[in-house]
Amino acid sequence: MRTLATLFAALFATSTAVTASAADLAVGKADAFHQLVAADAKVEKLGTGMKFLEGPCWITADGGWLVFSDIPSNELKKWTAASGVTTFRNPSNHTNGNLLDQQGRLISCEHSARRVTRTNADGTIEVLVDSYDGKKLNSPNDVAVKSDGTLWFTDPPYGLPKGQQQEQTGQHVFRFDPTTKTITIAVADFDRPNGLCFSPDEKLLYIADSGKPKHIRVFSVKDDGTLADGKVFATLDKGSPDGIRCDVHGNVWSSAGDGVRVYAPDGTWLGSVLTPEGAANLCFGGADGKTLFITARTSLYAIPTLTTQAVVK
Ligand code: MG
Repeated sequence: MRTLATLFAALFATSTAVTASAADLAVGKADAFHQLVAADAKVEKLGTGMKFLEGPCWITADGGWLVFSDIPSNELKKWTAASGVTTFRNPSNHTNGNLLDQQGRLISCEHSARRVTRTNADGTIEVLVDSYDGKKLNSPNDVAVKSDGTLWFTDPPYGLPKGQQQEQTGQHVFRFDPTTKTITIAVADFDRPNGLCFSPDEKLLYIADSGKPKHIRVFSVKDDGTLADGKVFATLDKGSPDGIRCDVHGNVWSSAGDGVRVYAPDGTWLGSVLTPEGAANLCFGGADGKTLFITARTSLYAIPTLTTQAVVK
């Protein structure tokens, strides 16, 4: 009996693992994808019961923790392995995207305040930029930092407060220099510019359009701070690309209606991490930097990976 029971347990364990793996991943190019995500990696739900999650960002200070946004709840949330999900900031002015600058300060895109802010080391919140050409921004959505200190952010109108009017003439991608306070339009031909990320060498900038095109475009970054090209890199057939991140190898990880899709630098789909709810954004973090955190509607998910996020020098 003991032998049979042991055999049954072993069979059951194997069966369970295979089922979980098949449910958690979709594989395009197995060899390349499994160098990034192990075949038996499993998606874990870290917290749920929230409203609409966005803007995950790993904070290395204080033992390491994740900040993320629950936009409708008007809160920034905090997750730690020890304490789970708690509230970090309320109100958050319906903050969406979050990012650390090179000094480790939190940069936040505040929808309803229509501005980009920086949380300084003493905890004060400083407004970096809230207008272009004398007109209010729409509702900054997401932001990327370049090694020269410039912040690149998208400004679709998704978060315009009710009763307020759009003042900008379009939905732009902006380049902002916090040192000189100079803001310029980097790209002006998007429907709904959303997530954005630089390649590891910063020669490319990927920008998601979550509006009608539902694609990611890739631009060449010129030495003078302007962009060129802008060809379509990948088009999604399920949901829209929202948050995107590059790993250290230059692969592009994009949120999608069915989870997170991973594309090689040439645009080939390598595979996907599947989540039970549509994903809006993602980031790498954790003690070794290899945990992929995914904000997906009402829940926060994570999965171990074999790579890390590209970082500014
Ligand atoms: Mg977004």
